[in-house]
Amino acid sequence: MKYYSTRDAAVRMDAAEAIKMGLSRDGGLLTPCGIPQIDRAFLESLVNVRYQERAAKVMGLYLTDYTYEELSGFAENAYGPEKFDCDAVAPVRTVDETTHCLELWHGPTSAFKDMALQMLPQLLSAALRKTGESKTVCILVATSGDTGKAAMEGFADVPQTKILVFYPKDGVSKVQETQMVTQDGANVGVCAVEGNFDDAQAGVKRIFSDEAIRATLADRGYFLSSANSINWGRILPQVVYYISAYCDLVRDGKLSMGDKVNFCVPTGNFGDILAAYYAKRMGLPVGKLICASNCNDVLTDFLRTGVYDKNRPFHTTMSPSMDILVSSNLERLLFDLSGENDAEVKGYMDALAKTGKYEVSDAIKAALADQFWGGFCGEAGTSAAIAKYYKENGYLIDTHTAVAASVMEQYRKATGDKTVTVFVSTASPYKFCDHVLRAIGETPAGDGVELLDQLHETTGTAIPRRLAALKGKARRFDLTCEKPGMDSVVLEFLK
Ligand SMILES: *Cc1c(COP(=O)(O)O)cnc(C)c1O
Repeated sequence: MKYYSTRDAAVRMDAAEAIKMGLSRDGGLLTPCGIPQIDRAFLESLVNVRYQERAAKVMGLYLTDYTYEELSGFAENAYGPEKFDCDAVAPVRTVDETTHCLELWHGPTSAFKDMALQMLPQLLSAALRKTGESKTVCILVATSGDTGKAAMEGFADVPQTKILVFYPKDGVSKVQETQMVTQDGANVGVCAVEGNFDDAQAGVKRIFSDEAIRATLADRGYFLSSANSINWGRILPQVVYYISAYCDLVRDGKLSMGDKVNFCVPTGNFGDILAAYYAKRMGLPVGKLICASNCNDVLTDFLRTGVYDKNRPFHTTMSPSMDILVSSNLERLLFDLSGENDAEVKGYMDALAKTGKYEVSDAIKAALADQFWGGFCGEAGTSAAIAKYYKENGYLIDTHTAVAASVMEQYRKATGDKTVTVFVSTASPYKFCDHVLRAIGETPAGDGVELLDQLHETTGTAIPRRLAALKGKARRFDLTCEKPGMDSVVLEFLK
């Protein structure tokens, strides 16, 4: 299978090349030419197998220049007991007959980013080999909190790679910051940026498209790539868990093969829900895709009106990984919904760059209304959802998951839809102890990792072992820069 750019469909490359590049030179996102189709027999063959095997089979449909043996080895490394604290890898918890929760935070950093970022470094390492690359790849990451840590954890000490992470100085939680600035590995670097996530992301995108920086780095034996969810190697491993969740529900008798299921996804950069969309397009029986935002509700408005308008205040919330006004992966959805019309997509993206705004065609509006439902939830609603699930179901959820839980309720009230619905849990509550404690009526006594024990003692739930290990870990990084200074941080890191 070949890959092309959302802004230039004439660009053609293999998966290995697409994963190595991260982003197309024209600024477009690299996307598979055609979406492989699965049938009932394929799904049935996955019902009684382990997650690792499901991953290798699903990814193999897209990565035709990788062998099944390679993919299956990568899946064993990525999702084995050394990395994941749960044999099922991505277990589905039942809340009630028609409501289930897909837990994606059992990996080493306790957020769903591990699902993809334990896999991507292996796909990329193999891609360097397959393409005969002799330079060292430097992964540049802009993070709203979880990606940075998960990427460093995945890439730490991987040969022929370096990784440099930029995070918004006051935009991540204490635990998230501690996780990043204590990261091990000789090839990692971390820098705080004065600004918000969009500032950090814009800076990274600018560096990617700067030919002078590229030339300087090439002289020094480096090239840049991305581990942000613009990289196809991030999206694909996420397609797996939607298919896996469906198979689990069938295996456990919660669903009959062929029945539809809705997914409700807490959304930021539109990567996670885009993976659900691809699963649906492949033929997984999916009804609505419910897109849940926090009070940065640009996607809610977009799905309701067809107008994407980022000209609005940016809110820092208790679900920081969703504090995003420009959702990069939407571009892949628009490409697919426009019938792979690269000129149309380029028009939208040019308008976004110039005016911060674009309006999609009537055809796309109709497709969006048919397949998606958008809603948002403010800070009080987020806390209320945490309290409700804890008190009524004895189920402790984090702030991002709570946004999804709340929007799922809104959707059900608004539409009366009784379809079995899976809401996606993207982080352990232990990553956001202070907000979770407050939501369940406790007063946090302390800050950051000090609160892990308090949440444990209050709720009797287990502290993820890697978070517990943060206590007393020494800070390794203390670098801060202004937005324009990001270039020199990169050049200094890759001396
Ligand atoms: C990244 C992240 C999200 C948002 O996912 P996208 O793919 O950016 O839409 C939601 N919750 C958590 C905990 C995250 O880390």
